[in-house]
Amino acid sequence: MAERVIPLVDQRLAALRAVLPARPVPATGLVADARGRPLRDLRISVTDRCNFRCSYCMPKEVFDKNYQYLPHASLLSFEEITRLARQFLAHGVHKIRLTGGEPLLRKNIEILVEQLAGLRTVDGTPPELTLTTNGSLLARKARALKDAGLQRVTVSLDGLDDAVFRRMNDVDFPVAEVLEGIAAAREAGLGPVKVNMVVKRGTNEHEILPMARHFRGTGIVLRFIEYMDVGATNGWRMDEVMPSAEVRARLATEFPLVPLDPNAPGETAERWGYADDAGEVGFISSVTQAFCGDCNRARLSTEGKLYLCLFAGNGYDLRSLLRGNATDEELASAIGHIWQGRDDRYSELRGTMAADEGSGRRRVEMSYIGG
Ligand code: SAM
Repeated sequence: MAERVIPLVDQRLAALRAVLPARPVPATGLVADARGRPLRDLRISVTDRCNFRCSYCMPKEVFDKNYQYLPHASLLSFEEITRLARQFLAHGVHKIRLTGGEPLLRKNIEILVEQLAGLRTVDGTPPELTLTTNGSLLARKARALKDAGLQRVTVSLDGLDDAVFRRMNDVDFPVAEVLEGIAAAREAGLGPVKVNMVVKRGTNEHEILPMARHFRGTGIVLRFIEYMDVGATNGWRMDEVMPSAEVRARLATEFPLVPLDPNAPGETAERWGYADDAGEVGFISSVTQAFCGDCNRARLSTEGKLYLCLFAGNGYDLRSLLRGNATDEELASAIGHIWQGRDDRYSELRGTMAADEGSGRRRVEMSYIGG
């Protein structure tokens, strides 16, 4: 494994300047990018730190004790995050997801949740507020998060076999504690809980059926994620990707599935239901089935850079505007202008790129931008 790790090129140093456009772009609740895609979904990374070292995301060889995380002063404060989120909502965002790193490592995260829950969409409704976590601290935090206004959680879990899971998180963390976190989230009312499983061929594909058996009939939605070529440190190889079609075929050997309609446009997961009505599963196929056409997601990094694509190499530095005394109107105008210029569709283009062109591209780390 170690010989496949590619040295880290620090994409955090790269930033695009966020400018105030000469012709202001007022927030009207509907801003379209260069491909006509609206802005609906905002993912906010609240820390670049994580207590897991999953080899596909934060391999130990790179994220070791010498790794320089962002200094605290460069992180957006909760007030800064909330102020930016307000401008995104004014442009039509309806859903906010907190992520990281591991978002529950950010001290007093429930205060941020409370602030975000107090915001309103252009329809006057509270934003849909969710969080993605590795579940390690969830048992302790679920109640406080719910009380603060969090609506749902997605928990990442790559297998039920304790030895497999400990090896994948690479910090020897037991699966039982994540399962306790999931139970606490359900008890606190943070449902429907979703569970994300990254399937890596040769590592955990034998966990597909046990995971399905465990979660079907519980109301928990299990989603299978194709191992993605994000970042530059995980030594990604196509032969370790298990295409969703194959995962689905494996499931169908035991549980017949029927296709379900999407819940909302731009949804990342394709939904399938168990034919015997024992609930549903999802497939996130960003490698084998590009879904850029209706991507309506913006990503805000821990220190306030706006990324227009998960596979982008650069983000727009909104923090400079924030800390340079820009007004709310100016912030909204800069965000609207950046979104109007968005033309990204990496996942679609990946298929047409030569293999080395795709893998050599500058890309931001998943642990920095949060997925
Ligand atoms: N720490 C949190 C967690 O574990 O959910 C939030 C951040 S994590 C980067 C978000 C999601 O990205 C997790 O579900 C993780 O499994 C997924 N992820 C990370 N690297 C990935 C990769 N190379 N391919 C597919 N999914 C990946």
